[in-house]
Formats: sequence, structure tokens, C-alpha cells
Amino acid sequence: MYFDELPLDDDILDALDAMNFETCSPIQEKAIPPILEGKDIIGIAQTGTGKTAAYLLPVLNQLNSGDYPQDAINCIIMSPTRELAQQIDQQVEGFGYFIDGVSSVAVYGGNDGARFEQERKGLEHGASIIIATPGRLLSHLAGGHIDLKRVSFFILDEADRMLDMGFYDDIMKIVSYMSPERQTILFSATMPNEIQKLAKNILHDPVEIKIAVSKPAEKIKQTAYLCHDGMKDKIVESILSDETLDRVITFASSKQKVKELARAMKQKGFKVEAMHSDLDQKERDYVMHEFKNRRISILIATDIVSRGIDIDDIQLVINYDVPRDPEDYVHRIGRTARANRDGQAVTLVTQKDYHLLRRIEKLIEKEIDKPELPEGCGEKPTMHERKEGGRNNNRHGRYGKGNGHKPNNGKRNGHGNKQGDKPSNQQGEKPNNKQGNKPAHAHRNNHGNKPNNKQKVNNGSINDSASVN
Ligand code: AMP
Repeated sequence: MYFDELPLDDDILDALDAMNFETCSPIQEKAIPPILEGKDIIGIAQTGTGKTAAYLLPVLNQLNSGDYPQDAINCIIMSPTRELAQQIDQQVEGFGYFIDGVSSVAVYGGNDGARFEQERKGLEHGASIIIATPGRLLSHLAGGHIDLKRVSFFILDEADRMLDMGFYDDIMKIVSYMSPERQTILFSATMPNEIQKLAKNILHDPVEIKIAVSKPAEKIKQTAYLCHDGMKDKIVESILSDETLDRVITFASSKQKVKELARAMKQKGFKVEAMHSDLDQKERDYVMHEFKNRRISILIATDIVSRGIDIDDIQLVINYDVPRDPEDYVHRIGRTARANRDGQAVTLVTQKDYHLLRRIEKLIEKEIDKPELPEGCGEKPTMHERKEGGRNNNRHGRYGKGNGHKPNNGKRNGHGNKQGDKPSNQQGEKPNNKQGNKPAHAHRNNHGNKPNNKQKVNNGSINDSASVN
């Protein structure tokens, strides 16, 4: 589903556009509509599934309606750790870039008195969204620096981790400062009894949303080769030269690439066939039949076969490129190590896709081994974590090509209370799109004609720093 199929304001769709977020992840598709309807939610989803946007987008959308008091804290987001609080805050800034009058402050423990003082001042100026760790929020509540009576949205992110850290009572205390009229959203990676108890106590008739991501089998030996684009064919050739391999699937993201790679490997003498959506059913059946019967040993395919094919003795899965959706990675490599056999998964990763690999590692909660390249394939390049603003293009060209800056760094109008940052001078630089200069979205909801230049551009998001830190 495309984001512009959801009833989100143009202010938000513009930010998503600028960040190159085009399609919803499954948790976003399921959670955004009921949150927009004002329902309480319990979402079972892990980091890496896009859960942050799943709750931030609809909440920001509601705050943008102007129906909420400007002089009150409208939303509290609880985070177990300071790192997550900072990541959420960055995402609020990105998604809220075109929204006027919504400001955020992150407050988290573990710092010195000066930091506490800064937070206190920020809170005094007022902020519509506060992202906080429980202990720190309680300290500010005890000091009388904040009033939660008019909070309309209460969000708990990684609730199971908060409970693991012993925050149950703190959370209940924080809740006691709020009005029962609020909308409550709880996200948790797991659903132990304590979470169920918490949910019962603080949620009202919640919609339950589950995103089941099965972790890859422990037995799969996962490797990533860091490389440049031009090295990929050579690496694949080198891997396939291992004569003990007779059951390999190589995934590539586009059918064009699948065709090219299959042609190249055939020329090198490998027993290869391509599988992609341009083949009709008869041709697909034929290719699968030949593969099953080992008349071909290497299948080169798009994600058409990543889910649901029933061949359980694949020895090796090669990801010629990194799948955009981390869950597709899990599905792709799930083709191997089935029925208790051993299996291997090798992923070729260029700098452009490095952030996607980091997202995968976050989702599977495991660092993937990154050895030197096979002999004769060249030197493994050094990869850089992409900082904020990895985008190098956007539809409206508002920010200049590749300026590398996230659409927002200081908060907007009035509040300017980003944790002691000097009042932002960004307003002068901020694209003035509020008064009639806004790009028309006539093309929205018309996917047949949607310009597909997005396919070519950097497919990361400006928040990639959030996923890799
Ligand atoms: P989360 O699970 O919220 O920690 O998100 C993981 C990463 O995915 C973050 O870097 C997000 O910025 C990114 N992300 C979330 N939703 C999308 C989407 N629909 N399209 C592209 N990137 C996304």
C-alpha cells in the first residue's frame, strides 16, 4: 500500500516524499487506519518493522488538525532507553517537518544536572510531544515541570523492554497523572503476561495488531560481502564455482537484473535458469520442475519465489542485492536450512544498500559476518554509516539534490525548544511551502501513472541513522 492511499494530510505525505518513504510496511498498513480513527492499539512488532512511523504518522496527522490545545502537552511517548528516545525524536522532526505548531522535546535520564536543567527549560517553554524514559519523566513530574492532564495521546514503545527494566510501577504512576480520555498506543516485541496485565490496565478496548516475523533459523550461516556494484558478478561466479553446490537460489530485486545475471552465468557455463514475473505459468512450472529435478542447479529469481515455494534442500541463498524490506530477507534466506539441514546465505552489499543491511541486522537482532571478498574479487571496501539525510533526490526537488540534510533540525515556530539547541535559524531556510506554494498532489492515488523515478533513487530514508545507531 502506498502512503498516499491512507487518509494522511499533505503535510505528512510531503515529508514522507522528501524522505523517500513510498510504501507502507505491514505494521504501518495495519496500525495507521485504526489510530487515525482514535482507537487504542496494542501492536506486537519488533524494531525494524517500521513501528515508529506506524504510530507517529497518525498521531502527527491528528495533531495537525488544529483540534488540540496549543498550550498543552498533547502526546507522551515512553521509551525504555535514551537511544530509542533520541531516534523517535529524530523521526518526529522528519515526519513533522511540514507541520506548523508541533514541537517535541526528548527527556531521558543518565545525564548530569545541566542536562536536567536544559530539559526543564525546554518543558517550561511547552512542547506538544514529549519523548521520555519513565524515570526521567517522573522526576520532571515530581518537580512540577509538566502537566499531563491534557495529554491526548499516550504511547509506549518497546513496552516489554520497559517492563524488563522494572518500569511497571513508574508507568502506572505516570498514567495516574493523565486523563482517562486519552488515546493509548502500546507497542511491544513480545506479549508476556506482564504486558497483558499492563494492557488491561491502561488500554481501552484495544485493536490488536500482530506482525509475525519469524527469525531466520539459527542453522543458517549468514554472510555479507561488502562490495562495489561492479564486483558483484565476479563474486557470484566465484561462489558458484564451488562444485559441491547443486541447489542454489540467487535473488535479485528487479527482473531485468535477474535476466542479465542469468545470461551472464549461463555464458560462464553454469546450469542456471531465471524465474521472474515475465514468464507465464507454464514457463514457471517448467523452470521449477527442472530445478526440483536437479537438471538445473542454480535458480536466479526475483522475490516471486521468496515466499511459499516448497523446495526444502536449498544449500545456499545468494542475495545479489539487499531486499528493501527486512522481512523479505528473512523470507529469502528461509529457503535454506529447512527440515533441519544446514544452509548458507550470502548477501552482496554496496554502500547504497548498507543501511538496508543494518535494518536487517536490527530486525534479526544479530550482526551478520562480513568477511574479506573471495580471492580474485578485489578488496572489501569500507562502508560508512549513513548519517541523517541520505536522500539524494526527491520528487519536488525542494531540498536540492543530495544536500544530505534531513528536512528539519530545529523545531518550528515558537517552541524552538530542542534540548538546549540555540533557537534554530532553520526558518529562513525552510522551504516556504505553506502559503499556496505547496505542490499539487493531483497524481496521488493514481498509481498507474505514478512517476516511477523513485525506483531509481536512493531508496533509504533520512532516518537511516535511526536504524543504524
Ligand atoms: P523502526 O522499526 O520504526 O525502528 O524502523 C526501522 C527503520 O525503517 C527506520 O530507519 C525507519 O526510518 C525505516 N522505515 C520505516 N518505515 C519505512 C517505510 N515505509 N519505508 C522506508 N523506510 C521505512
